[in-house]
Amino acid sequence: MPTSPATYLLHLECAECRAIHPADQEQHLCGCGGVLLARYDLARLASDFPRERLAARPWQSGLWRYAELLPLADPANRVSLGEGMTPLLPLDWLGTELGITVWLKDEGLNPTGAFKARGAAVGVSRAKELGAKTIALPTAGNAGAAWAAYGARAGIPVIVAMPKDAPPLTQREAQLYGARLHLVNGLISDAGAWIAAGVREHGWYDASTFKEPYRLEGKKTLGLEIAEQLDWQAPDVILYPTGGGVGLLGLWKAFEELRALGWLAADRPAPRLVVVQASGCAPVVRAWESGATQTAFWEGAATIAAGLRVPGPLAGGLMLRALRETNGTALAVEDDAIRRAIGELARAGCWVCPEGAALLPALRQLRAAGWVRTGERVVLLNTGAGLVYPDVEPLA
Ligand SMILES: *Cc1c(COP(=O)(O)O)cnc(C)c1O
Ligand SMILES: [Zn+2]
Repeated sequence: MPTSPATYLLHLECAECRAIHPADQEQHLCGCGGVLLARYDLARLASDFPRERLAARPWQSGLWRYAELLPLADPANRVSLGEGMTPLLPLDWLGTELGITVWLKDEGLNPTGAFKARGAAVGVSRAKELGAKTIALPTAGNAGAAWAAYGARAGIPVIVAMPKDAPPLTQREAQLYGARLHLVNGLISDAGAWIAAGVREHGWYDASTFKEPYRLEGKKTLGLEIAEQLDWQAPDVILYPTGGGVGLLGLWKAFEELRALGWLAADRPAPRLVVVQASGCAPVVRAWESGATQTAFWEGAATIAAGLRVPGPLAGGLMLRALRETNGTALAVEDDAIRRAIGELARAGCWVCPEGAALLPALRQLRAAGWVRTGERVVLLNTGAGLVYPDVEPLA
């Protein structure tokens, strides 16, 4: 065993039945249908690697500064376009209004303009390491653009299926990067059915949300970064615009691993996670409010926030578990409130995507209800750039 391994990855564990699967070969879902989670030798990492060593690493290495907590065995397989290490911007004007401290984690600065770059960087790197020949995935738009870009960088063909009415720019991007683009007359769930058929028929590497374990590991770096940027003082609350839930579960997993490593300031609990959805597609909110442990398919999903138009998330039950375990909550906001928030944030210098804009009215609601308390420290996770949605009109 090398003294300084690139990764401490041990194996994959089913989130439902806890079965262990080897990580040194291609894996998708557990036989029971459960999502597989990467597990690391955190005890050994904690004793080998003091957190202070991170501080010496160059900012330019992006999310790869957390290599020990990522699944890649050989750094030569890294496929990078400069993702991660995005700014955590204080929003003093909003903090003053609400009597709290607020930051905006601005993921719009990632390659392809959204936080999907994190999942694609680690997901494509690991697919390359495991010998994938053709990568296939359904998407609401942004994931297709990101995986197409990273696939092009890796030299691996990518097949993307997305709704016909996905943001036009993401369709163009996927094509420009050389991916094969298949448009469906329907939603991401219909695109998923088309991909599943191709996976069965042609043996494509299935990179659908949560059908491979490594996209989650890339998105986990969001939580690692927020913790490091706040000098390991975890925030009280993180609001997250939720579609398939990869970012949400990435945050959950990040803070769990940081706590196990002893890297978080001991007097602070893990952040309360908040699922924010659009009222036109809010399966997690509806399940949360009814006390259910699974989400039900949302009929007639419609919202301008394309990334939130995920009517039947595979990891619905796991998201609800993350909310319970972190004392979090879930709420939905109207598209008009999203449009107003885009304008308001833009006038403060931040042109955010509609998904990220949804967090502003959600935070005001939570504060008015007293769920966010005076003096608390809150992070709004803006998942992408407004530039990706040039046709979405703000409201005054
Ligand atoms: C994909 C996406 C989301 C939702 O992310 P999940 O990880 O699927 O929950 C939110 N915002 C934007 C801009 C996205 O592209
Ligand atoms: Zn299982």
